[in-house]
Amino acid sequence: MMNNTLYFQSNPYLSVGFIFLVLPILTWILLNGQRSRMVSFWCVGTICSSIGFILLSMRGTVPDWASFPLAQVLLFVGYLGRIQALRLELSLPQWRLRSVLGVCVVFVLVFEGIRLGLESTSLRFGFVLIYNFVLSGVILFLASRIVLELRSKNAFLIVFAHFLVVIIVFARVVELLTGTETVAETFSSIMTFKAGMVGLFSAVLNSLGYIGITLDRSVRRETALKTDKLVALNQSQQVIAQLDRQRSLGALSASLGHELNQPLTAVMANAQTAKKGMNRGVLQTDQVIEILDKIIFNTQRANAILEKIREFIKPARIEKKPVDVNSLVRESAQFINQDLMIRNINLIFNNERGALFVLGDATQLSQVLINLYRNALEALKDQPVGVITVSVTQSAKRLSITVIDNGPGLSEFVLALIGDPFFTTKADGLGLGLSISKAIIEQHGGQLLMGNAEQCGARFEIILPCLSV
Ligand code: ADP
Repeated sequence: MMNNTLYFQSNPYLSVGFIFLVLPILTWILLNGQRSRMVSFWCVGTICSSIGFILLSMRGTVPDWASFPLAQVLLFVGYLGRIQALRLELSLPQWRLRSVLGVCVVFVLVFEGIRLGLESTSLRFGFVLIYNFVLSGVILFLASRIVLELRSKNAFLIVFAHFLVVIIVFARVVELLTGTETVAETFSSIMTFKAGMVGLFSAVLNSLGYIGITLDRSVRRETALKTDKLVALNQSQQVIAQLDRQRSLGALSASLGHELNQPLTAVMANAQTAKKGMNRGVLQTDQVIEILDKIIFNTQRANAILEKIREFIKPARIEKKPVDVNSLVRESAQFINQDLMIRNINLIFNNERGALFVLGDATQLSQVLINLYRNALEALKDQPVGVITVSVTQSAKRLSITVIDNGPGLSEFVLALIGDPFFTTKADGLGLGLSISKAIIEQHGGQLLMGNAEQCGARFEIILPCLSV
């Protein structure tokens, strides 16, 4: 028993080897459910290293071919396994088995060439130090890339562990070159107790780091899945919003037709006046210019209306810009002007003075307002004197737009379900207007409140973060 303890103390390789052997098994058990090709490469690599260390520690007790070439090639393969795991983590291509086997054969030939051919212990020792230095450097480099590119803080443990190894090995190379390092055949002199401790420490850090990287990867995968779902949801919301706008446009066609009719009738009348006047030869040049100016003006008006319609129904790509809310509430009302007139409904604006801005997508915000106006119009269809009041107020950092009508208001049943997708009380309703409006306002960092006004009728309030320009 005592002898065994002494054997372990004087053979740091053996302790490192056993720790290396326990760690991948623990890693494999801990990562149950997260196992992948990368985890297999990492664990198998670490097991190879552990067997390599154990064989090294038994130099003199086991045959030379086991404690020299076999031990070294296992350590070498251990590095390759861990490097491969980190490469896959970074989505770099996997090495071909044939190439790896080829490299291992070359490695053994070089090692044995130095050991048996040249019979140079210092050259062999130098070779071992240099490949350890290079491969630890490669792991350090890959782990640093994982820290930076994949934002995996846990990979920093691997960086730190290999930084220690690189420093120690480098120091030993320098000592070897300057002749201060004595090369011996026994592992207790090949590897100092200090170096053995660093090996143990770095092995533990390595495994903890790798478990961390794997957990980070699963968190990343979950986040990516959630983001994909959100993007898909957002896209479908945008498509539904666009369909809703097209539907609104259908419902508002009477108003739009009337809006377009005015400038087009004026253009026609002006053109006919010009034609008649010119036929009779009674028109002076300045009169012709005046008529042409009117035609240009009315054509531009018609064009502006068409542009608005086009803007309203074009595919939605959210573009947030400062939007003047006072102008927006008025411009959106143009879409329902004709209906207001036909149904004799008063639309009253109660705006706070000055320009009040929010950061948002004017088309989408206008869609919300038109929706609220249209709902109010429909709620007022049996009302002898219909009034819709639109107020814009600003308090602290919030801007509020309220749309109140004097219709029947929202019953308790409606209040419980209003704003839910597909909830409608209208025979031809889709029940999407308010749920889309709610989503749009929430995407703008605001809230859409739905309820009843104090006196009578329904009250809708859009609250948005206000932008100080
Ligand atoms: P839709 O207009 O297609 O029914 P909405 O989501 O815009 O879909 O509206 C859902 C329901 O909310 C309406 O069917 C109606 O019952 C109720 N509602 C909306 N606005 C008002 C309002 N101003 N007055 C009374 N009820 C309203």
